[in-house]
Formats: sequence, C-alpha cells, structure tokens
Amino acid sequence: MQETSHPFRTPVFRLLTIAAAGVGSFIIGLWGLRYGMGDQIAGMPSEVIGAIIASLCALAAASSSLSFFAGVDESASYVFRETQIDKLTGLNTRTAMIGKIAEAAISTSKTGEPVYLIDIDIDRFKHINDSIGYQQGDELIKLFAERLRENLPEGIETGRIGAGQFGVLLPDSKSPTPINQFVETLIEAMMKPYQLTTHLQSINLSVGIVAMPKDGNDPIVLLRRSNLALQQARALGVASWAVFHPDMGKVAEHRQWVESELHSAFKRGDFELHYQPQMDLTSQRVIGYEALIRWRHPTRGMIAPMEFIPIAEETGMIVPIGEWVLRKACTDACMLPDDCFVAVNISPVQFMTKDFVSLVRTIMRETGVKPAKLELEVTETAMMQDRERAAKVLKELSEMGISVAVDDFGTGYSNLSYLIDFSFQKLKIDRSFVARMENDSSSGAVVSTIVGLSRALGVHTIAEGVETESQATLLRAAGCDVVQGYFYGRPEPLVINHAPEAERKVVNLH
Ligand code: C2E
Ligand code: CA
Ligand code: CA
Repeated sequence: MQETSHPFRTPVFRLLTIAAAGVGSFIIGLWGLRYGMGDQIAGMPSEVIGAIIASLCALAAASSSLSFFAGVDESASYVFRETQIDKLTGLNTRTAMIGKIAEAAISTSKTGEPVYLIDIDIDRFKHINDSIGYQQGDELIKLFAERLRENLPEGIETGRIGAGQFGVLLPDSKSPTPINQFVETLIEAMMKPYQLTTHLQSINLSVGIVAMPKDGNDPIVLLRRSNLALQQARALGVASWAVFHPDMGKVAEHRQWVESELHSAFKRGDFELHYQPQMDLTSQRVIGYEALIRWRHPTRGMIAPMEFIPIAEETGMIVPIGEWVLRKACTDACMLPDDCFVAVNISPVQFMTKDFVSLVRTIMRETGVKPAKLELEVTETAMMQDRERAAKVLKELSEMGISVAVDDFGTGYSNLSYLIDFSFQKLKIDRSFVARMENDSSSGAVVSTIVGLSRALGVHTIAEGVETESQATLLRAAGCDVVQGYFYGRPEPLVINHAPEAERKVVNLH
C-alpha cells in the first residue's frame, strides 16, 4: 500500500470538493438572505450583507472540508505508520512486506525476471532476548537492521517479518553477484559480532530463499516456503542458507512429528547414550569418552541427534533431556576406570539456564561421580551469547574441578581474544577443519594456529572427526594432544572392560 494511492486524496479531487462546498454554501447563504430578510439591514443594502454572509458561509464550508481532508490525512498516515513501518527499525512490517511481495509477483509474472525473497533469521532470538534483556535485544535488532541496509543495493525492499526475522526482496538484475555468492557475503557481514552498550553480541543466522515466479506468486505461500527453506538451513548448522525445494514440505511434516513425539519419547525412555573414545596421541591411550545421545523410536528406529536436538532446543525439551543425559553420563562415568572421564555435550539453552551450576552439583552428589571424571563440552557460540554470565558459570565449574572443552571451535565468529576471560581446559577443533586438512593447506594452518593459541592460553587441544591415518599424522605433527573419530572408534554403547591399563585400548569395542 502506498500513502498517496487513495483516489479521494488526489489534489484535483480535493480542490473540486473544497470549491463545491464553498460555492454551494455561498449560493445557500444568498438564497437564505434573499427570502429571509427585508431590503435593508443596519443601513446597508441587503445585497451587500448577503454577499458578506454568503462569503463567510463559503469560507466556513471550504475550511471545514479542508480540515476534513487534513484529518483524513493525519489518521491515514497514522495507520500507515502503525501498520506498514516497523517502529524499531524503520523497515517494512510483515504486513507491508506481504504487499511488496504481491507487487513483485505481479511484475515478475509480466517481465519474467526472477525476484528472490530472502528470509533471514537470527537463530533463537527469543532466547537471546530473554537472556540479555529486552532493551539490549532491541538494540541488537536496530544495529542488525542498519547493517542489513548498508549491505544491500540501493532501493531494495526490506522488512522485519518476525521478532528476529527479516525479509529482503531482491530482483535478479539488482544482485551485484550471482545469488548464492551474494547471500554468502551477506551472511558473513551480518554475522560479525554486534557491539551493544553492555557487551559484544555474537549471533547465528539461517537463511531461506525462494525465487519468484518459480516458487509461486502468492505472498503467504512464498513466505511459508522461504521459512521452510530457512528451517532446512538451520538444521544444516551455523551460517547456513538453503533454497526452497518442494520436498521441504515433507521435512516440515517430519519436524512437526518430532516436536509432538519428543515428549512421549522422553517419558517412554527411548533415549540412550553411546560413547566415542578419545585417544591421547602421546600415550596412545583412551583417556575419555564423549557421550552422544541416541533416540531409539519404537516404530521408526534410530533418529539422529541433529534431527531432534535443534527442535528440542527450540521447544525447551532439551532441559529435561539434557538433565537426563548428564545424570546418566555421570552414573556411567563411575563405572569407568579411575583415569577415564566422560565428556557431556551441553546445549546452549541448558548452559544458560539460571540454575545450571546447581544442577551439575546436585547430579554429582546424587551419583557420587568425582569431578575429574566429568568434562563438559560447551560450544563457543553458547559462551559468547552472554559473556559475563558465561565467564561466571565457567569459573564456578572450574572451581568445582570440572574440565570444560570449547566444542566446535573455529566455527563461530567470536573474537579469539575474548577466550582469555573464560576458564576452560580444552579447545575442541571442529571436524570441518580436520576433514579438509589433507587437501587444503590453509586448514592445516588453521589447526596449527589453534594449537599455538591453546598453548599460549595454557589449555589442551582435541581434534574431532579423525577418519584417516594421514589426518592423525597431520594432527600429531601440528602438536594436537587428543584425537577422536571413526579412525579410533565409533560411538557405541558402553561395555565396561576392567582389563589392566596395558591391555586396554578402546574400552567400548565389542
Ligand atoms: P558433536 O558434539 O560435534 O559430536 C560429534 C559428532 O560427530 C557425533 O555425531 C559423532 O557421531 C560424529 N563423529 C564422530 N567421529 C566422526 C568422524 O570420524 N567423522 C564424522 N563425519 N563424524 C564423526 P552425532 O552423534 O550424530 O551428534 C551430532 C551432534 O548432536 C553432536 O555434535 C552434538 O552437537 C549433538 N549432541 C549429541 N549428543 C548430545 C547430547 O547429549 N546433548 C546435546 N546437547 N547435544 C548432543
Ligand atoms: Ca561435542
Ligand atoms: Ca563438535
């Protein structure tokens, strides 16, 4: 909707209305005087008096129609501001964007030129908002919108279509580079941390793309499809984007099924833990096991954690599930040899709950596990969400004698120097670097740099996803301390083997 598009508000129509009101009142004024009065009033001929009064009538009528239009304008622009412009960012609202999408759909059906609807979502914005407070949340949204404008070509329609969700309508001809390249550059720019008044805030983004006219022309359908693509992107991990594909409807159905089924799965006791060994490269000994959750559904079989953990995080089910994992892992750790620990993945949602440290304390007391037998894996992004709180939690854990490993290290966008504020004992090099090491020398350089950095910080390094002997050799050469991956052992149910240390290689191999 455009502010000037209403036919009753064109200048010609206004002029005609005001003039008609004026002339009409003038004639009525004259007519009234002609028949209502005598020939003379106060010594003036009645024609003169009549002309004066009729002119006053005309003036009053014209000004009342003028103020009517002004009033209409004011309320119209008020309604326009309220419904079409997002107060916080000055961008289009969702309602306005629906109109813009409809306009774009009409023009693309005439010209055939594709227009992309890019749906950009700040992952778990609601959670960020809850943990940093609404004022800081608003500041983040404002900065995000400003940066978005700066990174788009001139004249591109942009809107805020959800709390932490933005829509961009990009005609193909206006994209400075092919769309995939454009989106990747945009994501990179938008994911750099945001300097808020109180702290530096990191975020994750997921992006979904639909193309008009290929993926439809109904704005509501297009928005739903861009959202389906976005959810697919989110499932792929940090800073991902996806283009809509018709199969995604099925994915959405599956997602809904997972969401509704998680609760009963938890009550039924469908979950179990598998353990993957971690090998010390110097001593060639298994020093610990990472606990990895498995969902064995009674009819659908095994469901991978990446299919349900993100959904459990969004719905909050991760809190009871995470508590179960921690309790079970601590119980299992007690059965392991003294020099072996269990590493437990802690979801960012869990890590940020108010009573996380007291939960750890309670579970340790209940299970009797020694702190040296427990390691917590916390992602870099979880730590960066609220640095002050994270630093406090990490310090408390470290005082309790629990080791913390920074999981998926290298995939976030945080400033390495912030790590100095945190107490942790290990950096876990993400498997994407390990996978590329053999063919890409820059990945090898990244690994060596991380090892150097961790030495400077006085912490150990562990590399995950080691699948081949040559990766292991390269990691040893880079100075990495501990390795984990299919090359050493897959995640499997724990089978306790009380053999003496010399005979103990990988405890959970059958
Ligand atoms: P992660 O923390 O990065 O866990 C390592 C993942 O890499 C595991 O996938 C593991 O099976 C897989 N992996 C291990 N070695 C190799 C290898 O050599 N090559 C390849 N390609 N992959 C390897 P999994 O078990 O599917 O878990 C996926 C993710 O789900 C985990 O990633 C973690 O983020 C999450 N997750 C798993 N269990 C839990 C849990 O109990 N709590 C929470 N919050 N998250 C969990
Ligand atoms: Ca992990
Ligand atoms: Ca990892």
